[in-house]
Amino acid sequence: MDEKFDALVLRTADYGEYDRMLTLFTLQKGKISAAAKGVRRAGAKLRFAAQPFCFAEYVLAVRGERRTVISASNTDGFYALREDVNKFYAAAALCGLCDVLLFENIVNEELFLRAVAALKEMCDGDELLALLRFFLRALSLSGYALAPLVCADCGQELAGRAYFELSEGCFTCADCARGAGVSAGTLAVLRACGEEEGAACREEELTADGKRRALKLLYAYFRTKTDARVAAIEELLRLP
Ligand SMILES: [Zn+2]
Repeated sequence: MDEKFDALVLRTADYGEYDRMLTLFTLQKGKISAAAKGVRRAGAKLRFAAQPFCFAEYVLAVRGERRTVISASNTDGFYALREDVNKFYAAAALCGLCDVLLFENIVNEELFLRAVAALKEMCDGDELLALLRFFLRALSLSGYALAPLVCADCGQELAGRAYFELSEGCFTCADCARGAGVSAGTLAVLRACGEEEGAACREEELTADGKRRALKLLYAYFRTKTDARVAAIEELLRLP
């Protein structure tokens, strides 16, 4: 029996002489694994389909529990992501997050569509903002939503310096002050990236430092919730 999926390559692992195991995020079946045989040979027809962030329609042969790629037709290779180290790690970070947050065979259409849209956005625009928007949405779809950006203790609007309590994922004001300090620049980024679609977001007012700190904060929170690491996020935070 053959299966056909729209899928994004989340992870690859080489095995044998020329083969590669793919972790695919499919629209129709969630996360699955599939073997791609011979794809590391020079000139292999399916070489493109075994690259990270490849978005294609895959036809898989199923035998028992095993799936093997028979053919693939490219939907979007997101090539711009391979030509810029920041974009590359942002895309790898997105894939790493999906890999941790998804369970095998559990469909998550919204996360899939957002992942594809975010990769597109990374190609053409600000890759960190695209990653942060995706990260916030992915956390909330996985049951780890951040608390609203008001003080969790007294309810007042957060202005200027605020505080973030990692274990609860909530913010407090400078008077209530629980957890680690959060700069106004970081809050501005989180506010802009968490906004519902259609809401105005003045990207040019967000600072590079704010974006980096926002990523650091979300990653620290993600680690306390999942106990998992995403190497590409750590790389991204190390990049100058
Ligand atoms: Zn307060």
